[in-house]
Order: sequence, then C-alpha cells, then structure tokens
Amino acid sequence: MVPPSQKNTIDFDAAKLQRLGFSSRKKEQTRPVSLAQLRQRLGLELQTSLDAERILNMFYRELQHLVAVDSLGYQHLSSDLRLDIGQPANHSATYRLSHESEYLGELTFRRRQRFSDQELAQLESLLASLMYPLRNALLYRVAIQSALRDPLTNTGNRVAMDQMLSREIDLARRNCQPLSLLMLDIDHFKGINDEHGHSAGDEVLKAVASTLKDQLRNIDMVFRYGGEEFLVLLSGTPREGAQLVGERLREAVQGLQCVAQGKPVKMSISLGCATLEAGESADSLLQRADKALYSAKRDGRNRLAIAG
Ligand code: GH3
Ligand code: MG
Ligand code: MG
Repeated sequence: MVPPSQKNTIDFDAAKLQRLGFSSRKKEQTRPVSLAQLRQRLGLELQTSLDAERILNMFYRELQHLVAVDSLGYQHLSSDLRLDIGQPANHSATYRLSHESEYLGELTFRRRQRFSDQELAQLESLLASLMYPLRNALLYRVAIQSALRDPLTNTGNRVAMDQMLSREIDLARRNCQPLSLLMLDIDHFKGINDEHGHSAGDEVLKAVASTLKDQLRNIDMVFRYGGEEFLVLLSGTPREGAQLVGERLREAVQGLQCVAQGKPVKMSISLGCATLEAGESADSLLQRADKALYSAKRDGRNRLAIAG
C-alpha cells in the first residue's frame, strides 16, 4: 500500500518527451504541416529553452515545414545579441518585434525567391509563437548578465572572474597557449575618498575601469576583484606582452584628468603581472600576481612588478 504522504515521481526522460512532442532531437521529417499544426508544435517546442539562440534555431528549423527560407537573422543590440542562421540570399522580409510596447529585437527572413503574400502572412502568424519564449529568454539573459557584472564599473564581478579564469586556464592548457594576468590596484585610493568625497571616489573607479576597457582588445576580460582592485586576463599573451600591456594601462591611468569640485584628482595604479606556468592552479596564479602587486606597492607605487 502507498502511504498517503508518498509522492509519485514522473521522470520525463528523453524518450517520453519525444512521445509527447517535445523532442530535442533534430527531426528529419520534411512532410509539410498546416499552419495550425505548426503553431501548436512551436508552442510546445519553443518553451523548452530559455536560451535565445536555441529558441531561434528551433524556430528556423521548424518553420521550414511550412515556408522554406534560406536564412534567419536576428539582432537585439541592447542585449548584445546577434545571430545569423543559414545562407545569405537577396530577398528579405524584416520584422521589428515588440510585445506590449517592449522591444524584442529585429528579425529578418531571407530567401533566393521572392516571398508571396500568403507566405508572408504565414510567417507573421508563426512569429506570434515566438513572442513569449523570446521575451522570457531576453529577460533571462539580462538576469544572467547582471549576476556576472559589477554595476558601478560595468566590469565582470568575482563570480564572472572565477568562471572565466578557470575556462581560460583550461583553454591555454589544451591549446598550449600562454595566459597572463594583471592584478592592479589604485594607489592611495583612501586618500582620494578622504580628500574629495566618496562619490568622487566612485567616479574615479568608473573612470579607471573605462580606461582599462578602452585600452584592451577584449573588454570581457576586465574584472573588479575587490574595492579598488581590478584583474585583467590576457589570453594568448606571454610575459613580455603582458608587461607591455600593463605599462600601457599604467600610463593611461596616470594620464587621466579627473576633476572633483574644481580640484584635479591625481591618480595612479600599481600592477602585479603573472604568467601561467605548466600545471599551475588558478589560486597559485592569483597568489603570484598578488605578491607581485604587493612588491610594486612596496617599491614606491605607480609601477608594474613581474611575479617570480
Ligand atoms: P594603496 O596605495 O596601498 O593601495 O592604498 P589605498 O588607500 O588605495 O588602499 P586601502 O586598502 O587602504 O584603501 C582602499 C579604499 O577603497 C578603502 C575603501 O573605503 C575604498 N573603497 C572600496 N570600495 C569602494 C567603492 O566602491 N567606492 C569608493 N568610493 N571607495 C571604495
Ligand atoms: Mg589601493
Ligand atoms: Mg586595495
């Protein structure tokens, strides 16, 4: 006998999902379907993911059963999302998507033959199935992005740094490529806060972060490591290259001309540079960069030191 408190478990394994019409496997079925059938199928399938790229790929694949298109382009600039699926072609139909006055991006269907009016009407009708899944995916993307960013400086936060550092270490090992990091700290920052006020201090943090991003080729590799400390990951960069980049950053920050309440704010940074050694862990790499930073401070600040 089943005790009253026991719960039944339903395991929706891949086979069961497929029987229910939620297949994640690519269907090779080319049989045409009606608009109503396809809308129903899209309604089920598109809600199985929160990843915008995946949703658009599913949509592109499924719509071929009703209207053959050669490519689908999508962009949502404020989410930094841009996608092109398929082959370029010269006839196109572009839609600006919005739902309840919320902008959801721009979508372009392309094809070698011109679209008929009936086909355009069908495409427009299918777009309705995309609205909620796409809106949810965009919201999810914003949530994920803000969970990984420092709001004051718009650089990556510690969570993003941990993820990226271990990913870059794996990649460097696999591809036998060098990887360097710069740990940098604003000199006498407490004095800047004390002399000009905390909000001027915040402005200095923002100015330093944006200078770092301006100077680097990959801005996704700048992280706020602590209060006034930043970390820069330089993939594919050996020690000498990292040293040059570090010097460039140091000079750029020194050349910044910030003014608080009419008074110039003098600022500089000290840097520690470390390059990944064979078999080294992320913790050890960070510790060596930190030690080098400490010696740059001890030797007078506004300078770069290389980890031993
Ligand atoms: P050093 O040259 O040795 O690095 O000296 P420092 O004064 O920069 O270092 P210290 O660690 O003594 O002071 C860091 C200061 O940074 C103290 C803290 O109040 C300030 N701070 C940390 N986070 C923020 C922030 O988000 N905004 C502002 N305005 N200040 C911050
Ligand atoms: Mg400091
Ligand atoms: Mg510090």
